[in-house]
Amino acid sequence: MKTLRDRILKDGKCFPGGILKVDKFINHQLDPNLMKQIAVEFIRRYASSEINKIITVEASGIAPAIMMGFLLDLPVVFAKKKQPSTMSGMLSTTVFSFTKQREYHIVLSEEYLGPKDKVLFVDDFLAYGNAAKGIIDLCRQAGAELVGMGFIIEKAFQHGREVIEQAGIRCESLAIIESLDNCEIKLKY
Ligand code: 5GP
Repeated sequence: MKTLRDRILKDGKCFPGGILKVDKFINHQLDPNLMKQIAVEFIRRYASSEINKIITVEASGIAPAIMMGFLLDLPVVFAKKKQPSTMSGMLSTTVFSFTKQREYHIVLSEEYLGPKDKVLFVDDFLAYGNAAKGIIDLCRQAGAELVGMGFIIEKAFQHGREVIEQAGIRCESLAIIESLDNCEIKLKY
């Protein structure tokens, strides 16, 4: 997706440890027009799949997910990083955060993810695939079908795609970063 690639090269900032900061248009300030183009591209790629719900993780996945839900007229559900005291009947799993270097739980109510669901997961980044692993586990617990996973940016050098493809799930990324060595952004496409 050329618009996205150009934007990453223009506004993305590289940090030591293989971290890319895209606070100017995805993770802090948001560019709704770019987010709409991102949603349209995910929809095009998964056009032949039957989907009845979009799933994501708070917080940065919510923007592309809500755009997709709006355009497809489908509900959007996000896994929460803190368990609300009022939530009962919940699915829960543990995720290791590479950016924060610690484990956290993600939870989702059984009311919003179940055996009748065919879901598409979207998120901002694919790095080592830990969040993806957590989502795969939540869908398995719920008996829901995980039709595919879509990422705005994939860091290919952290190999998260292997986790997803080994689980037999389709993975689509709109921009793939080959390397951030020497704080230089090298895009595959
Ligand atoms: P993974 O679980 O695949 O290892 O990492 C994905 C999650 O970590 C994403 O949801 C994202 O929030 C965060 N993340 C991983 N790498 C980066 C990065 O380079 N920049 C930013 N902003 N977030 C990242």
